[in-house]
Amino acid sequence: MTERTLEIDGDTVRIASWASDAGSGWDVYGPNGAHVGTIYSDGFGRPGRGRVQLGRKQIRGTIDDLAATVYRANSPREACAPKPGSVAALASGCTCPRLANRMGAGNDGRYFIAPDCGIHGKALACTA
Ligand SMILES: [Zn+2]
Repeated sequence: MTERTLEIDGDTVRIASWASDAGSGWDVYGPNGAHVGTIYSDGFGRPGRGRVQLGRKQIRGTIDDLAATVYRANSPREACAPKPGSVAALASGCTCPRLANRMGAGNDGRYFIAPDCGIHGKALACTA
């Protein structure tokens, strides 16, 4: 198995190769570790290329492009409230980093989310 990370829209997305009787490809994981999509090899044996299924549409391309495509399609950004790291969120038990999230102000519209936070841990990403 091969693993690597990609920066997609400022998020660190991990991809891991897989192979089985059904074929081979890459699994795509969001910053919080959630599986957000699967890339299949393109069926022509071309290295570095694959295909993804989005609804009824099949998209082909490079692995990196497809990882960004499935990540964006399957990672809806929520307007999480109260904001991660804010005083209001902390009072409700938020365990997201306070300083990294600038006490709820965020960083360029993004937030660091603790996967085990009871309030934000299920959100793939929060927007400011
Ligand atoms: Zn939180």
